[in-house]
Amino acid sequence: MSGLEAALARAPRVPLGHLPTPIEPLDGMARALGDGVRIFVKRDDCTGLALGGNKVRKLEYLVGEALAAGADTLITTGGVQSNHARQTAAAAAKLGMRCELVLPRMVAGRDPAYEASGNRLLDDWLGARVTLVDQPADVARVVAEILARSKSRGGKPVFIPAGGSTPTGCLGYAQAAVELAGQLERARLEIGSIVLAVSTGGTLAGLLVGMEALGLGIPVIGIGVFAATAQVAPVVRDLATRTSLRLGVPHVPDTRFDLRDRWLGAGYGLPTDDLREALALAGRSEGLLLDPVYTGKAMAALISLRQQGNLPGQNVLFWHTGGSPGLFAYPELARARSSS
Ligand SMILES: *Cc1c(COP(=O)(O)O)cnc(C)c1O
Repeated sequence: MSGLEAALARAPRVPLGHLPTPIEPLDGMARALGDGVRIFVKRDDCTGLALGGNKVRKLEYLVGEALAAGADTLITTGGVQSNHARQTAAAAAKLGMRCELVLPRMVAGRDPAYEASGNRLLDDWLGARVTLVDQPADVARVVAEILARSKSRGGKPVFIPAGGSTPTGCLGYAQAAVELAGQLERARLEIGSIVLAVSTGGTLAGLLVGMEALGLGIPVIGIGVFAATAQVAPVVRDLATRTSLRLGVPHVPDTRFDLRDRWLGAGYGLPTDDLREALALAGRSEGLLLDPVYTGKAMAALISLRQQGNLPGQNVLFWHTGGSPGLFAYPELARARSSS
């Protein structure tokens, strides 16, 4: 067992996901794009809990720690269509805990389905109590009120930050690096680069920490879908530093952080034309669903980097972080396609 695995084994963890997730070839998509590069996908959209996604890996450690501290209530925040909020609600339900979601309206000008369908609908089926607020600036006050109310009733609430991106949450992706290393070795698969969507940064930070500790030097290209790189990069570095310290493993060198914001478009949750094309291509050439906020932009980036010959190696791994429930909140995207 590596030092990384021993350190991970010491952290409290509650099993929530269907792990390991498969790695599959996307040969239909590669054929449709018509050049020599093969595409593989790491199916973290298939982590199992209430339609899955990347937050399940983080929640195994976050909720493990909360339970070890005696918590009975999980409080978290994210956009109205937050996948993290939906997966947190599911984790709470599975473990017999209460769940409170505080969801700020962050994405203007959407279809009415945005507040009625997709993840927002599933939060209700998963038994969470949902409070919508008008601005991100309102979240802290409402969370403080909910924490106080819960404590005054004798509850033991814990607050999980947006995206579950804390050093504890990052352990889930350090663990995913161990999983990946084993899968690549068993399949004798050589991957030249990894592409994934980056929002609150914990997925990328945890993965880089785990890969560094294992000596797995595959370039990882993070595609920003939340904000410009200048804003996101310091957050990812800080999370990686704190996660390495917590695990007692070597720091991730500066040169490993590769963030690109060229596919962000007008901002978080706002679709772009190349996102729509990536969604359509994955759907019709592979039967693979992406999502309208994260993986659609990351796949658009993979396609254009590959077309420019800017992906190292013959095989690229797309890390599918989930989010397909969000498709139901963006019906206008499918309508725009069928009429074009
Ligand atoms: C949260 C999320 C991401 C981004 O993960 P971070 O750890 O927040 O950077 C990517 N894809 C999907 C579908 C997500 O829900």
